[in-house]
Amino acid sequence: MDTSRLFKCRVLIVDDDPIVLQTCAAIVRSFGFSVRTAEDGFVALKILREVLPDMIISDLRMPNMSGFELLSIVRRRFPHLPTIGISGEFLLATMPLGLLVDHFFQKGAYTPDQLNAKMKELIADSPIRPHIGKADRAPLWIPRKDAEYIVVTCPECLRSSSIADEMEAGDLQETECLACGAMIRYLVDSSVLKALNDKSLKLPA
Ligand SMILES: [Zn+2]
Repeated sequence: MDTSRLFKCRVLIVDDDPIVLQTCAAIVRSFGFSVRTAEDGFVALKILREVLPDMIISDLRMPNMSGFELLSIVRRRFPHLPTIGISGEFLLATMPLGLLVDHFFQKGAYTPDQLNAKMKELIADSPIRPHIGKADRAPLWIPRKDAEYIVVTCPECLRSSSIADEMEAGDLQETECLACGAMIRYLVDSSVLKALNDKSLKLPA
């Protein structure tokens, strides 16, 4: 492909570890991309309200808003936007990752060349990639934390609000966005956080 196009491509990288974030940003800049960074999902959403990148690379396990939540919002709102998930855990067998990301790398188990090749492949494909499911109707997917409230992010205006978590897990819920009035449909699922806490799922180092 015409590599001069890549210089116009903007990549948003999200990771809560500042060293990993800056290292990843430096590597991706060396590929010729323009890079913005965010230290969690809320900062990423703020950036997405301002300017839409051409790709998102996100850590999956982060405090405040996990990569799973962020990427489910991105998939719902911007289904054409290519996404890469990166995590220290081996999650593919148990997670609905294919619905959330276009590619998954396990932390420390890929080379910069592999990342570069996958990014260019996904960006080259993005104008023609099929929309996944009915993005406008697909519910958001929110991992359940053991708290009395959950954070729901509106896929229309990308603003987040806390609501009481008194529903049964796995039920489809609806709530109205306090900021813009849009109806938000969401699913609460505790399986991912349980899996993240299950050390047996980690691959041997
Ligand atoms: Zn809204």
